[in-house]
Amino acid sequence: SRQFTRPLNDLANQFNTLLSAVAGAERVFEVIDEEEERDKVNARELSEIKGDVSFENVSFSYEDDQNTISNVSFKVNEGETVALVGPTGAGKTTIINLLSKFYEPVSGAITVDGHDITEVKIGSLRQQLGFVLQDTHLFQGSIRENIRYGRLDASDEEVEEAAKQANAHSFITSLSNGYETVLDQDGSGISQGQKQLLSIARVMLANPSMLILDEATSSIDTITEIKIQEALRRLMKGKTSFVIAHRLNTIKEANQIIVLKEGKLFEKGSHDQLISERGYYYDMCSRS
Ligand code: ADP
Repeated sequence: SRQFTRPLNDLANQFNTLLSAVAGAERVFEVIDEEEERDKVNARELSEIKGDVSFENVSFSYEDDQNTISNVSFKVNEGETVALVGPTGAGKTTIINLLSKFYEPVSGAITVDGHDITEVKIGSLRQQLGFVLQDTHLFQGSIRENIRYGRLDASDEEVEEAAKQANAHSFITSLSNGYETVLDQDGSGISQGQKQLLSIARVMLANPSMLILDEATSSIDTITEIKIQEALRRLMKGKTSFVIAHRLNTIKEANQIIVLKEGKLFEKGSHDQLISERGYYYDMCSRS
């Protein structure tokens, strides 16, 4: 899946410029070339992954003086859902940026299926990740093209099958131009929730091994929200998924909750475990 090439918090600006130029996909390959230039000399191709992930004493700072992430360790098994929770600025996005190789740890190691990701080619890791973010990154072009961006060689049937799996097909076919409806750069003309469904369809088509989800905080009507939740559940089935989670329901269902605070892993465990520990997570749940 070719999703994006910039760290998460920097994306909104960069992505639209990137995608609006994408019709011929040339710009994408330019970006991939840039990535290759950033690869270590001896970097290896990461073959198809199952999705076991570990962080071992990972520390990182954007600037020299202070650690943004300090000594974070956790293990995730293939197919699990991990909810990253904690206050703004706790380091949730940074964890994702490190896992996606937008930055390298200062110390410690991140492994995927046992491979230290500092040793693998950026593209070979990132093309196995699927991203569903709050900002949906549609580009000027038809709905069909916007979905097909997940896998450029997909047939029309495959695009439509992905849209069905993503609960997007029915709203698309209700538009007078259906799949040929042209979206402008910010996707105006369709709702925020419908944009989410399109971005899910795009990742559904790409069928990556691992998922990175940044749960929307903006309000979406209840019916669309149910469609989104159902589509995400279908998408996440069997795939290791990291969710920057805001909804208590999502967090409760995760196999593992990682509570971050000021860059440190504060607590980890399932919902029931963390509730019985009566710590920070327990307080957080009692407050909401
Ligand atoms: P969260 O996702 O939990 O809100 P982030 O990982 O975005 O937290 O941020 C963790 C800390 O790192 C914050 O103090 C934030 O200001 C800082 N930070 C995030 N991105 C950058 C950056 N590109 N350069 C410098 N500091 C950053």
